[in-house]
Amino acid sequence: MKKKILHVDLDAFFASVEQLDNPKLKGKPVIVGGTSKRGVVATCSYEARKYGVHSAMSSVMAHKLCPNGIFVRGHMERYKEISSQVFEILHEVTDSIQQMSIDEAYLDITDLDEDPHDIAVWIKEEVKNRIGITISIGISYNKFLAKLASDWNKPDGIFKITEEDIPDILIPLPVLKVHGLGKKTAAKLNNIGIFTIGDLLQYDIKSLSYIFGQSRAEEIYNRIRGIDNRSIKVTSIRKSYGRETTFSEDTKDREYIREVLDIYLLKITDRLKKSNKLAKTVTVKIKYEDFEQITRSHSLTSYTSSYDLFKEAMDLVLDGVELKKKVRLAGVSLSNISDSEHYQMSIFD
Ligand SMILES: [Mg+2]
Repeated sequence: MKKKILHVDLDAFFASVEQLDNPKLKGKPVIVGGTSKRGVVATCSYEARKYGVHSAMSSVMAHKLCPNGIFVRGHMERYKEISSQVFEILHEVTDSIQQMSIDEAYLDITDLDEDPHDIAVWIKEEVKNRIGITISIGISYNKFLAKLASDWNKPDGIFKITEEDIPDILIPLPVLKVHGLGKKTAAKLNNIGIFTIGDLLQYDIKSLSYIFGQSRAEEIYNRIRGIDNRSIKVTSIRKSYGRETTFSEDTKDREYIREVLDIYLLKITDRLKKSNKLAKTVTVKIKYEDFEQITRSHSLTSYTSSYDLFKEAMDLVLDGVELKKKVRLAGVSLSNISDSEHYQMSIFD
């Protein structure tokens, strides 16, 4: 059976976070990094890209191309925080996630019944609504094509590559777009008159091995025909299942907070069950009106996915929370996650 793979890639990620946190930067050419004379651009907004600015460019060059560019120093901790919020959303879809970098991942959604396009639309909407930035998504049946697809309609794009699209899409593509072919190799190929995948398709494996060496020739031979058997190596491990909300009005009403958290608890135990996991610890997070934040946890004696057991524990925790000040945000999460199968096995051990 053909796989269903998504490649998700946040758009101009660092610059988007800067624009999110400082609305004055919205719609402006924002250049992250390169604040010192000898600096290098980490990333830049699409407004700056129009001037030809790109990542890894020297700040001197960037300033020359885009004199009204706004240079800002990066905030790595903040990027990590936003990135983990995005991965929380991805984990609501599947746990079969290979994280490639802070803003990029592959998802294997082969086992899901929903239409891949619907899943991609859902991810895009959730990322936009909950966080406020955009993500581009490519849909295909292997990693190479999914990555190619996510790049197709950037920013805020969605694109699907099917088997029938292969010749039309691949033949005119510059060789540099072949995953695994670097700039040096591309330049070498250009020197001998090979510019596109179409040019490269003329060669058999033996000829390719003269160019790329024997070990890589077969891989490249397959890839330019749209074949890529690399599987998703799960690298993004989910450490907790949680949800939180900022109330539209700050509140001291314990029963109201309990009701809201109860709905969330129901949802997250449901997700826990669906991903065949068990948890042991329930944590309530409260942020007061003056932004003071507390977390209170309770750990059960054994792993479970039972809503009733967690509900009892959560109520206990919530009863112990002081409400002298109004609450602006409340959340609940389950942590200390274990695979249900592993746990079953350890019982038999
Ligand atoms: Mg990106």
